[in-house]
Amino acid sequence: MTDVATLGEFDLIARYFTRDVRRAALGVGDDCALLNIGAGMQLATSSDMLVEGRHFLSTVAPDRLGHKALAVNLSDLAACGAKPLAFTLALALPAVDESFLDGFSRGLLALADAHDCELVGGDTTRGPLNICITVFGEVPAGAALLRHRAQVGDDLYVSGTLGDARLALEGFRGTVALHGDAFERVRVAMEMPQPRVALGVALRGIATSAIDVSDGLLGDLSHILRRSAVGATLDVDALPRSRVLREQPQALQRTCLLAGGDDYELIFTAPPAQATAVQRAAADSGTAVTRIGRIVPAGDGLRLHDAAGAAVANLYTSFDHFRS
Ligand code: ADP
Ligand code: MG
Repeated sequence: MTDVATLGEFDLIARYFTRDVRRAALGVGDDCALLNIGAGMQLATSSDMLVEGRHFLSTVAPDRLGHKALAVNLSDLAACGAKPLAFTLALALPAVDESFLDGFSRGLLALADAHDCELVGGDTTRGPLNICITVFGEVPAGAALLRHRAQVGDDLYVSGTLGDARLALEGFRGTVALHGDAFERVRVAMEMPQPRVALGVALRGIATSAIDVSDGLLGDLSHILRRSAVGATLDVDALPRSRVLREQPQALQRTCLLAGGDDYELIFTAPPAQATAVQRAAADSGTAVTRIGRIVPAGDGLRLHDAAGAAVANLYTSFDHFRS
C-alpha cells in the first residue's frame, strides 16, 4: 500500500488504469494509442462527460460511478450499431483517494471487460471531480444506425423498460417515498444502466433509425423525427415499465416514462415487414423490445394517445443543460 501522498500522477495511472491491451496495437504509455480496425469498417467515436452534481450525486458508490461513466458512452455506440473496441479516460480528481480509485477502476474495468472494450489512454489532472470518456467502436462501412432514415409507416420500438432512473431521482429528492427493495431496484437502474450494445449490433440492416434515451423518451424521439422529417404516434400505455414504476400514480408514471432521462435504452424504427427480424434481434441479444408507436407524416407531428385511443396532452419537456 503506497502512502496516498506519494502516489503521483504516473503511479496512479500505472496502478489503476494500465492493463495489457489485447486488441489495440498500443495502449497506455506513449503519446498516442494505436487501434486496429477491420478492413471495410468505419470507426465510430463518441465522448460523454460526467460532472458531479450534474450527472451524478455525491452519494453514488465509486464502482457504480465507474460503471456509469463507461455505460453512457457504450450506449452511444449501441445506438449506432457499433461494436466497442477501446476507450480513453480523462479524469480530474480533487485528491488521490485510493479507496475511490479502487472502486471506480473496478466498476469501470468490469464493464469494459464485459464489452471487450479496452482502456488505451487518457489524461489525469487535479481538479473538481470530472470524468470524460471517449469510446471507439467499429461498424461495417455504411451500416451505422443513424437518426435520419425513419420512414412513414415504420413501427417505433423501445428496448427494456423506461422511467426507473427518474423515479430513483425523485426518491433521492424526497418527492416520492419508495419502500422495501423498491428504492434499491430503481437506484440500480439509475446508477448502473446497461448499454444495449448487442441489440444495436443485431439491428444493423433491420432498423431504419435509432437513438439512445439519455434526456427522456420524447426529447430523444424528437431528434429522430426532426432529422428524418417525419412525425409519430405514441401509445403511452404501451410503454414498458418495471413493477416498481407500475405501482406509482399514473401521472408520475407518465412523467418518468416520457420525460425521465438517464434510461439508456434504445428507441428505433423499422418497417412492419421487418417485425419478425426485430423480434429475432431482440431474442438473439437477450434484450426485451416493445412496439410503442408508428411513424407518420411530418405534418401530423408527435401525437400521444392511451390504450383506448384517446389523445394524451404532451405537456412534457426533456432535459436540457442550459434550460434547467
Ligand atoms: P501526454 O502528456 O503525452 O498526453 P500523459 O503524461 O498525460 O501523456 O499520460 C501518460 C500516458 O498515460 C498516456 O499514454 C496517456 O494516454 C495515459 N493516461 C493518462 N491518464 C490516464 C487515465 N486516466 N487512464 C488511462 N490512461 C491514462
Ligand atoms: Mg496528458
